[in-house]
Amino acid sequence: MNFGFEHSYATLPPQCFVDVAPTPVASPELLVFNTALASFLELDAGLADHAASLLSGNELPGDARPIAMAYAGHQFGNFVPQLGDGRAILLGERRGLDGELHDLQLKGSGRTPFSRSGDGRAAVGPMLREYLISEAMHALDIPTTRSLAVVATGEPVRREEILPGAVLTRVAASHLRVGTFEYFAARADHDALRALLDYSIGRHAPALASAPVPALAFLKWVADRQAALIARWLGVGFIHGVMNTDNMALSGETIDYGPCAFMDHYDPATVFSSIDHRGRYAWGNQPAIAQWNLARFAETLVPLIDPDQAVAIQGATAVINRFPAEFEARHQQLLRAKFGITAVRESDAALASRFLALLQQSRADFTLAFHHLAAAALGATHEGPLRALLGNADGLDDWLQEWRMRQQPDSLSPADRHAAMRRVNPAFIPRNHLVESALNAASDRGDLAPFRSLLAVVQHPFQDHPGRESWMQPPREEERVPATFCGT
Ligand code: AMP
Ligand code: MG
Repeated sequence: MNFGFEHSYATLPPQCFVDVAPTPVASPELLVFNTALASFLELDAGLADHAASLLSGNELPGDARPIAMAYAGHQFGNFVPQLGDGRAILLGERRGLDGELHDLQLKGSGRTPFSRSGDGRAAVGPMLREYLISEAMHALDIPTTRSLAVVATGEPVRREEILPGAVLTRVAASHLRVGTFEYFAARADHDALRALLDYSIGRHAPALASAPVPALAFLKWVADRQAALIARWLGVGFIHGVMNTDNMALSGETIDYGPCAFMDHYDPATVFSSIDHRGRYAWGNQPAIAQWNLARFAETLVPLIDPDQAVAIQGATAVINRFPAEFEARHQQLLRAKFGITAVRESDAALASRFLALLQQSRADFTLAFHHLAAAALGATHEGPLRALLGNADGLDDWLQEWRMRQQPDSLSPADRHAAMRRVNPAFIPRNHLVESALNAASDRGDLAPFRSLLAVVQHPFQDHPGRESWMQPPREEERVPATFCGT
């Protein structure tokens, strides 16, 4: 059976990857399958009755060429010269209905030469977590890798406890990371760097091949994608949790769902990851970290930008220094949409920060506050839920009055403004306490029903889901799950 695979990555110099096949598993059982994504990739027929064995690595499509990719990365600020796919294997690339190539990668498919002391495996809980949150992000209109399936392996994996094992099939625009370039920069392998740059441009931004300085143009392209992405993350309260340079995709997709979570009550310092002790990857720190990561990327490109190092560094620095402004422009644009404002005014940023300050003061839930604000767009008689959520915070009256004045020039009807706000402010996010309890049911008891119910809701985050109103609420104190774990 063939998947119609292409293997463009395997045309890169041999030091960019190793050929390695998945290690078969004991008894593959399909836990979740993404029918919509399979149709988009036109893989429905090819997978048919073989999904469990094909998507666990037990059976390889005839045209697969399994490889593990080499990459390095800065983890929590420290450079690790060799990471690489230690538990992931690329089967090949497949063209989707969009005409673009998409990587099909098995995650948890066994050891590779990059595994170091790891077992190359993954557990059911974390793989279902990646499936759920990546699909929620996609539904929230945020660029992300996707999940085609989770297959239970029937084998135990040893972590702090013994857990059931699983393999996830990840679909990505590519798996090129900042860390991919860092791997070769650290080895001063300019041939590989040049080949990677040409490849990246060809795959993601072919028009840049004819730019005056393609390396610089690509750096700017990647920076713009990241600016847009991080603005989108902030807009829904998403905290990636482990923004190491090996977890930053050049395509601008969100990648690597480890200890990520969504913020409940508004506080820019919010951290969930159990290993992020200093808040390096806190919600509000993500734009600065993105810029830091982009600077690491820029360093790898210096030899490709200009033979004169000083000239190269000057060009790269200019791009990196522009990042905060590029980010802020996108962030403000998104905030305007969240507040239901269409015309641009200089005072918009101040209006937004005053509202956020009110949320922080009253420890109000970020998602719910914007949902209630959308209701308030229908008129003053619809302000009740927002007022209750903010405990009638001091300054709310003034703020609401200013917000209503601010709406006057843009002549939207209340119903239209409400509808526009509902389209950008989700009612449902995968709240951490709900995610944890759904994953525990699946992992501990093999009960996938809670997972499926939650998935069905977060796949349509902007709609009402009658009967599921309680899932719009932040956790009660006793329900809070304050920390998430990497689960590797
Ligand atoms: P991550 O924290 O998932 O971004 O992974 C960081 C590095 O650790 C990557 O090189 C992974 O391939 C590797 N890694 C994570 N978990 C495992 C595992 N169970 N076995 C082998 N390698 C792993
Ligand atoms: Mg990673």
